[in-house]
Amino acid sequence: CGIVGYIGNNDSKEILLKGLEKLEYRGYDSAGLALKNDQGIHVFKEKGRIADLRRAVDKDMFATIGIGHTRWATHGVPSKENSHPHQSATGRFTLVHNGVIENYALLKRELLADVPFKSETDTEVIVQLVEKFVGEGLNVLEAFRKTLKLLHGSYALALLDAEDSETIYVAKNKSPLLVGLGNGFNVVASDAMATLQLTNQFVELMDKEIVVVKKDEVTIQNLNGEIINRPPFTAELDA
Ligand code: GLU
Repeated sequence: CGIVGYIGNNDSKEILLKGLEKLEYRGYDSAGLALKNDQGIHVFKEKGRIADLRRAVDKDMFATIGIGHTRWATHGVPSKENSHPHQSATGRFTLVHNGVIENYALLKRELLADVPFKSETDTEVIVQLVEKFVGEGLNVLEAFRKTLKLLHGSYALALLDAEDSETIYVAKNKSPLLVGLGNGFNVVASDAMATLQLTNQFVELMDKEIVVVKKDEVTIQNLNGEIINRPPFTAELDA
Protein backbone atom coordinates (compact mmCIF):
# COMPACT_ATOMS: atom_id res chain seq x y z
CA CYS A 1 0.00 0.00 0.00
CA GLY A 2 1.17 3.54 -0.58
CA ILE A 3 0.41 7.23 -0.96
CA VAL A 4 1.67 9.85 -3.35
CA GLY A 5 0.63 13.48 -3.74
CA TYR A 6 1.62 16.45 -5.90
CA ILE A 7 0.93 20.19 -5.81
CA GLY A 8 2.58 22.51 -8.30
CA ASN A 9 2.19 23.94 -11.79
CA ASN A 10 2.36 20.79 -13.90
CA ASP A 11 -0.21 18.13 -14.63
CA SER A 12 -0.30 15.69 -11.73
CA LYS A 13 -1.90 12.55 -13.15
CA GLU A 14 1.15 10.98 -14.79
CA ILE A 15 3.33 11.95 -11.80
CA LEU A 16 0.89 10.20 -9.48
CA LEU A 17 0.47 7.09 -11.64
CA LYS A 18 4.26 6.72 -12.01
CA GLY A 19 4.65 7.26 -8.29
CA LEU A 20 2.10 4.56 -7.49
CA GLU A 21 3.90 2.18 -9.86
CA LYS A 22 7.10 2.75 -7.88
CA LEU A 23 5.19 1.79 -4.72
CA GLU A 24 3.76 -1.42 -6.21
CA TYR A 25 6.41 -3.48 -4.42
CA ARG A 26 4.63 -2.66 -1.14
CA GLY A 27 1.62 -4.72 -2.26
CA TYR A 28 -1.96 -3.64 -3.00
CA ASP A 29 -5.36 -4.82 -4.20
CA SER A 30 -6.82 -1.54 -5.55
CA ALA A 31 -5.67 1.91 -6.58
CA GLY A 32 -7.13 5.37 -6.94
CA LEU A 33 -6.49 9.04 -7.67
CA ALA A 34 -8.16 12.34 -6.86
CA LEU A 35 -7.31 15.19 -9.22
CA LYS A 36 -8.17 18.79 -8.37
CA ASN A 37 -8.60 21.57 -10.90
CA ASP A 38 -10.87 24.60 -11.38
CA GLN A 39 -13.77 22.29 -12.21
CA GLY A 40 -13.50 20.52 -8.85
CA ILE A 41 -12.19 17.25 -7.48
CA HIS A 42 -12.34 14.21 -9.75
CA VAL A 43 -11.96 10.71 -8.28
CA PHE A 44 -10.86 7.68 -10.29
CA LYS A 45 -10.50 4.31 -8.59
CA GLU A 46 -10.43 0.65 -9.49
CA LYS A 47 -10.04 -2.70 -7.84
CA GLY A 48 -7.02 -4.41 -9.36
CA ARG A 49 -3.85 -3.17 -10.98
CA ILE A 50 -2.52 0.33 -11.51
CA ALA A 51 -2.77 -0.46 -15.22
CA ASP A 52 -6.56 -0.72 -14.71
CA LEU A 53 -6.60 2.63 -12.93
CA ARG A 54 -4.52 4.18 -15.71
CA ARG A 55 -7.17 3.12 -18.25
CA ALA A 56 -9.94 4.62 -16.08
CA VAL A 57 -8.31 8.06 -15.68
CA ASP A 58 -9.53 10.80 -18.03
CA LYS A 59 -6.54 11.39 -20.34
CA ASP A 60 -7.65 14.94 -21.19
CA MET A 61 -7.98 16.15 -17.65
CA PHE A 62 -5.42 18.72 -16.50
CA ALA A 63 -5.02 19.09 -12.75
CA THR A 64 -2.10 20.61 -10.86
CA ILE A 65 -3.07 19.06 -7.52
CA GLY A 66 -3.59 15.39 -6.90
CA ILE A 67 -3.35 12.51 -4.45
CA GLY A 68 -2.96 8.82 -5.24
CA HIS A 69 -3.32 5.60 -3.25
CA THR A 70 -2.72 1.91 -3.42
CA ARG A 71 -4.86 -0.04 -0.96
CA TRP A 72 -4.14 -3.16 1.00
CA ALA A 73 -7.61 -3.83 2.37
CA THR A 74 -7.94 -4.23 6.13
CA HIS A 75 -11.59 -3.18 6.70
CA GLY A 76 -14.00 -3.90 3.86
CA VAL A 77 -13.36 -6.25 0.96
CA PRO A 78 -11.25 -5.16 -2.00
CA SER A 79 -13.80 -3.40 -4.24
CA LYS A 80 -14.22 -0.17 -6.15
CA GLU A 81 -16.46 1.27 -3.40
CA ASN A 82 -13.92 0.52 -0.67
CA SER A 83 -10.98 1.79 -2.73
CA HIS A 84 -9.52 5.15 -1.86
CA PRO A 85 -9.88 8.12 -2.24
CA HIS A 86 -12.93 8.42 0.01
CA GLN A 87 -15.15 11.49 0.07
CA SER A 88 -17.21 13.14 2.79
CA ALA A 89 -21.01 13.16 2.57
CA THR A 90 -21.23 16.47 0.67
CA GLY A 91 -18.14 15.68 -1.41
CA ARG A 92 -16.22 18.64 -0.06
CA PHE A 93 -13.35 16.56 1.41
CA THR A 94 -11.38 13.79 -0.28
CA LEU A 95 -8.97 11.51 1.57
CA VAL A 96 -6.44 8.72 1.08
CA HIS A 97 -5.23 6.64 4.03
CA ASN A 98 -2.76 3.89 4.71
CA GLY A 99 -3.03 2.16 8.07
CA VAL A 100 -5.76 1.03 10.44
CA ILE A 101 -8.10 3.10 12.62
CA GLU A 102 -8.78 0.81 15.55
CA ASN A 103 -11.64 2.80 17.08
CA TYR A 104 -13.47 3.57 13.84
CA ALA A 105 -16.64 1.64 14.79
CA LEU A 106 -16.98 3.57 18.05
CA LEU A 107 -16.38 6.93 16.33
CA LYS A 108 -18.94 6.06 13.69
CA ARG A 109 -21.55 5.05 16.23
CA GLU A 110 -20.99 7.92 18.63
CA LEU A 111 -20.24 10.86 16.35
CA LEU A 112 -21.45 10.00 12.85
CA ALA A 113 -24.72 8.11 13.39
CA ASP A 114 -26.61 10.42 11.00
CA VAL A 115 -24.01 10.42 8.24
CA PRO A 116 -24.56 8.24 5.16
CA PHE A 117 -21.48 6.08 4.56
CA LYS A 118 -20.49 4.89 1.10
CA SER A 119 -17.88 2.29 2.07
CA GLU A 120 -17.11 -0.34 4.69
CA THR A 121 -13.68 1.08 5.42
CA ASP A 122 -12.28 2.37 8.68
CA THR A 123 -10.88 5.25 6.61
CA GLU A 124 -14.21 6.85 5.77
CA VAL A 125 -14.78 7.93 9.40
CA ILE A 126 -11.77 10.25 9.11
CA VAL A 127 -13.08 12.23 6.16
CA GLN A 128 -16.61 12.31 7.57
CA LEU A 129 -15.31 13.65 10.90
CA VAL A 130 -13.40 16.46 9.18
CA GLU A 131 -16.58 17.49 7.38
CA LYS A 132 -18.64 17.25 10.57
CA PHE A 133 -16.26 19.51 12.50
CA VAL A 134 -16.06 22.04 9.66
CA GLY A 135 -19.87 22.02 9.66
CA GLU A 136 -19.73 22.86 13.36
CA GLY A 137 -17.66 25.96 12.63
CA LEU A 138 -14.01 24.92 12.78
CA ASN A 139 -11.65 25.82 9.96
CA VAL A 140 -10.22 22.91 8.01
CA LEU A 141 -6.95 22.76 9.88
CA GLU A 142 -8.71 22.84 13.26
CA ALA A 143 -11.15 20.17 12.08
CA PHE A 144 -8.31 17.97 10.83
CA ARG A 145 -6.45 18.39 14.12
CA LYS A 146 -9.55 17.59 16.18
CA THR A 147 -10.18 14.51 14.07
CA LEU A 148 -6.62 13.23 14.44
CA LYS A 149 -6.80 13.60 18.21
CA LEU A 150 -9.76 11.20 18.20
CA LEU A 151 -8.07 8.47 16.14
CA HIS A 152 -6.45 5.39 17.66
CA GLY A 153 -4.27 3.45 15.31
CA SER A 154 -1.97 4.02 12.38
CA TYR A 155 -2.28 6.43 9.52
CA ALA A 156 -0.58 8.16 6.68
CA LEU A 157 -3.12 10.62 5.28
CA ALA A 158 -3.51 13.11 2.47
CA LEU A 159 -6.63 15.29 2.38
CA LEU A 160 -8.02 17.65 -0.27
CA ASP A 161 -10.62 20.38 0.24
CA ALA A 162 -12.75 21.15 -2.83
CA GLU A 163 -12.90 24.79 -1.69
CA ASP A 164 -9.13 25.24 -1.50
CA SER A 165 -6.92 24.97 -4.58
CA GLU A 166 -3.66 25.64 -2.76
CA THR A 167 -3.36 22.97 -0.11
CA ILE A 168 -2.85 19.28 0.56
CA TYR A 169 -3.25 18.43 4.24
CA VAL A 170 -1.04 15.58 5.37
CA ALA A 171 -0.57 13.69 8.63
CA LYS A 172 1.06 10.52 9.89
CA ASN A 173 1.18 8.17 12.84
CA LYS A 174 3.00 4.83 12.75
CA SER A 175 2.75 4.64 8.94
CA PRO A 176 5.50 6.04 6.73
CA LEU A 177 5.14 9.38 4.95
CA LEU A 178 7.65 11.92 3.63
CA VAL A 179 7.34 15.36 2.11
CA GLY A 180 9.49 16.03 -0.96
CA LEU A 181 10.55 19.60 -1.72
CA GLY A 182 10.72 20.94 -5.26
CA ASN A 183 11.13 24.23 -7.01
CA GLY A 184 7.57 25.51 -7.50
CA PHE A 185 6.07 22.22 -6.41
CA ASN A 186 6.01 19.86 -3.45
CA VAL A 187 5.18 16.19 -3.16
CA VAL A 188 4.25 13.65 -0.52
CA ALA A 189 5.05 9.95 -0.65
CA SER A 190 5.18 6.81 1.47
CA ASP A 191 8.67 6.18 0.15
CA ALA A 192 11.18 8.57 -1.46
CA MET A 193 11.38 6.10 -4.38
CA ALA A 194 7.95 7.27 -5.58
CA THR A 195 9.02 10.83 -6.41
CA LEU A 196 12.81 10.63 -6.81
CA GLN A 197 12.51 11.56 -10.47
CA LEU A 198 11.21 14.97 -9.27
CA THR A 199 13.33 15.74 -6.21
CA ASN A 200 15.86 14.21 -3.84
CA GLN A 201 15.13 16.69 -1.03
CA PHE A 202 12.83 15.24 1.61
CA VAL A 203 11.57 16.20 5.03
CA GLU A 204 10.97 13.40 7.46
CA LEU A 205 7.75 13.45 9.46
CA MET A 206 7.34 12.27 13.02
CA ASP A 207 4.28 10.60 14.45
CA LYS A 208 1.30 12.86 15.13
CA GLU A 209 2.53 15.65 12.93
CA ILE A 210 0.42 17.55 10.41
CA VAL A 211 1.87 19.14 7.31
CA VAL A 212 0.18 21.88 5.34
CA VAL A 213 1.62 21.41 1.86
CA LYS A 214 1.37 24.23 -0.68
CA LYS A 215 3.29 24.48 -3.93
CA ASP A 216 5.84 26.96 -2.53
CA GLU A 217 5.61 26.25 1.17
CA VAL A 218 5.53 23.34 3.59
CA THR A 219 4.56 23.89 7.25
CA ILE A 220 4.91 21.13 9.81
CA GLN A 221 3.08 21.32 13.10
CA ASN A 222 2.14 19.06 15.95
CA LEU A 223 -1.39 18.30 17.11
CA ASN A 224 -1.27 21.35 19.39
CA GLY A 225 -0.64 23.59 16.39
CA GLU A 226 2.98 24.33 17.37
CA ILE A 227 5.19 24.90 14.32
CA ILE A 228 8.10 22.52 13.87
CA ASN A 229 11.21 23.46 11.91
CA ARG A 230 13.05 20.50 10.44
CA PRO A 231 15.65 20.74 7.68
CA PRO A 232 15.35 18.48 4.65
CA PHE A 233 17.72 15.59 3.94
CA THR A 234 19.05 14.44 0.59
CA ALA A 235 17.87 10.99 -0.48
CA GLU A 236 20.90 9.07 -1.77
CA LEU A 237 19.10 6.69 -4.09
CA ASP A 238 19.05 6.17 -7.82
CA ALA A 239 15.79 7.20 -9.47
N1 GLU B 1 -7.53 0.43 6.50
C1 GLU B 1 -7.73 1.07 5.23
C2 GLU B 1 -8.63 0.23 4.34
O1 GLU B 1 -8.82 -0.92 4.57
C3 GLU B 1 -6.41 1.39 4.52
C4 GLU B 1 -5.65 0.17 4.10
C5 GLU B 1 -4.28 0.51 3.50
O2 GLU B 1 -3.35 0.79 4.27
O3 GLU B 1 -4.16 0.48 2.27
O4 GLU B 1 -9.18 0.73 3.41
